[in-house]
Amino acid sequence: MEPLNSALAPTLLIVASQPSLATPWLAGFQAQGLQVAWVDPACMAPGQTLQESGAVDLLALLHPEAWLLLEEEWLTPVLQSDQRRGRQTPVLVLIPPSELDRAPELLQAGAADVWSRELPMPLLARRLEVQIQLRRHQRALAKQLRYEAAVAECARMLVGRGGLDHHLQRVVEILQAASAVSRAYVFRNHQDSEKGLLVSQVHEACAAGIDPQIHNPELQDQPFASDAPNALARLSAGEPFVGLVHDLPEPERTLLGSQGILSVLILPIFSGREFWGFIGFDDCVQASHWHPDEIALLRIVAETAGLAIERQKAEDELYRMAVRDSLTGLHNRRHLNQQLTNLVSQACREQLQFSLALLDIDWFKRINDAYGHPAGDQVLCHFARALERGCRSYDLLGRYGGEEFLLAILHADASQLVQRLQQLRSGLQQSPVRFQGRAIPVTFSAGIAGSAELQHPFSADALIALADSRLYVAKQQGRDRIAAEAVIAPI
Ligand code: GH3
Ligand code: MG
Ligand code: MG
Repeated sequence: MEPLNSALAPTLLIVASQPSLATPWLAGFQAQGLQVAWVDPACMAPGQTLQESGAVDLLALLHPEAWLLLEEEWLTPVLQSDQRRGRQTPVLVLIPPSELDRAPELLQAGAADVWSRELPMPLLARRLEVQIQLRRHQRALAKQLRYEAAVAECARMLVGRGGLDHHLQRVVEILQAASAVSRAYVFRNHQDSEKGLLVSQVHEACAAGIDPQIHNPELQDQPFASDAPNALARLSAGEPFVGLVHDLPEPERTLLGSQGILSVLILPIFSGREFWGFIGFDDCVQASHWHPDEIALLRIVAETAGLAIERQKAEDELYRMAVRDSLTGLHNRRHLNQQLTNLVSQACREQLQFSLALLDIDWFKRINDAYGHPAGDQVLCHFARALERGCRSYDLLGRYGGEEFLLAILHADASQLVQRLQQLRSGLQQSPVRFQGRAIPVTFSAGIAGSAELQHPFSADALIALADSRLYVAKQQGRDRIAAEAVIAPI
């Protein structure tokens, strides 16, 4: 009889140093229908822990549901070996009836139970089954508690304050740890006008020893419908996609199998009615059989994530409405004033050049009167886009009022701003607004003020007042021109 030294996992492992010692018990338990094997603990030096002996820790490779010891001296090494792997497999000791008075001592040392060797085999087998069942229930309960705690933590985090991206990353980390899967991840859907629905991995957490896939270009911008049509059908209907990979339909079986995945659970994330993406769990080492209760708990997280995404969108929209002008999409006056105060303080503090222009469309009322209000709106939007094209992200640009706009630039003097506005003017000339087939000529007047003209520290109000007075002059001088320090001339 060869000692068992593979990772195959019988229900019961008998630890005995001699085959002759183990054989009758092996045969007896097998006859009672138990899956049982013998392991030779010779790799352990007596009196030492497995680590101290430096021997190959064969026991640690094995995952029985119970250990049965025929020699009590193996109790401590087996318990330690188990503990190091974070397991709590019940260790049972069979002793001669004459030594039963030692039972309390062995129980104290960590044995799950101590039995007389004289007990009839059917009774021993039954007791073993009870121990194994008990430990299974304990494990299931511990797992359930772990899940519930993880789901509660995810839900609490998702409904709380903070960045959604950070929260979703924490969610996959928490759920990966609680479920002990190889990999937990979030994919985001996005619609492409040509390629249809694409999916990209955006978050991931892996177990130790599992290769991360987050930087794998093959998991970015994947066409969902052709790569995984069955998963898409299930998920877009709000249902989980779950199973052992070898049981899945094609093409999912090949797609996931080629990545070494053995089992998968994928749950959709809906933000309102929008199929936003999905959260998934892969197993690459040992397939998971997902219990409906586990799936139900994880669905709570996916649904809470959907609500968090929805709330984030609503907050983003509220913020957008608070800082943007609804017609042109440019920053509104309130935001301009706030930002301007910040920029002016920075310019004063750091002695930086700073220039500001107020622009006003000429004869705008006439445009409204001649072409109608919708045409006037279109002119405003056209003007806004032309202004935007000439701006960098750190310039401050916005709609200051009806047909008035503000542009402020840090690190620039008035002459640079004049140049920018000249470009804007030629741009408007080259591409006039077209409304119902008619070209609408648009010109503007502008007043420019620079920080160099004011005594430091200066205020945003002083700069605006100076620019406004120049704008007035530009209008007075006939419109379609820029007024800056010592320059009041047609452009
Ligand atoms: P000036 O060259 O002196 O600036 O003349 P103007 O006609 O451009 O200036 P005025 O202040 O007389 O007229 C501005 C007009 O802009 C009046 C107002 O009805 C119109 N207006 C303000 N906001 C909007 C808007 O959102 N859409 C449209 N279509 N018109 C607007
Ligand atoms: Mg005007
Ligand atoms: Mg005006």
